[in-house]
Amino acid sequence: MSVAENFESIKSSIPAHVTLVAVSKTHPPEVIMEAYNAGQRIFGENKVQEMISKQEVMPKDIQWHLVGHLQTNKVKYIAPFVSLVHSVDSAKLLKELNKGGAKNNRIIDCLIQVHIAEEDTKFGLSAQELDTILSNPAVAEYTNVRIVGLMGMATFTDNMEQVRREFKGLADIYKNIKQKYFADQPSFNTLSMGMSGDFEVAIDEGSTMIRVGSSIFGTRNYGEN
Ligand SMILES: *Cc1c(COP(=O)(O)O)cnc(C)c1O
Repeated sequence: MSVAENFESIKSSIPAHVTLVAVSKTHPPEVIMEAYNAGQRIFGENKVQEMISKQEVMPKDIQWHLVGHLQTNKVKYIAPFVSLVHSVDSAKLLKELNKGGAKNNRIIDCLIQVHIAEEDTKFGLSAQELDTILSNPAVAEYTNVRIVGLMGMATFTDNMEQVRREFKGLADIYKNIKQKYFADQPSFNTLSMGMSGDFEVAIDEGSTMIRVGSSIFGTRNYGEN
């Protein structure tokens, strides 16, 4: 199937309340344009440099999401245009994003990445670390960064019961955090979980945003990344 057909098929299979992020990392603009021309406007990248070079040459109505790990010293490159950062995993990064937002006169939306995988190779905070960040009074003062939800990645495994358990755990954390810190903020509404191999399970468990790469664009020519 073509990129456009893959996209249409996934788009039509997911509920309307779930946002589809097309993860276009490693694929060139002309391939990404096939999804764009089929109507997709939200694209996810995991490397700052790659996102910038695509953003420069591609249509300006694309919303660029950073889904990969972000180093604080690279915030300045994406602060002018990034639509959503999925991978905030430290107080330091949140502070830097606030600074970058202020410099560019905008509010940068972000998700806090939570570690849910039983394997320990993935980035993200524990529920406890998340609590520490959110209860810091300085964070409430940030006016140029807005926390709109949480993101998590399940273990890379065929064991769907394990994946479901991990997603369920994140959905619970999400509900608790929303109630505890964001009860009066409707903008806290995003639970980013689910990729090509597990988005159906993620949606079942309450995902509102899925990040799908290979099922749209085909396999990438390098390993798990
Ligand atoms: C690459 C990537 C995806 C997409 O993965 P697929 O399995 O190709 O759908 C989703 N989220 C993150 C954080 C990624 O790095």
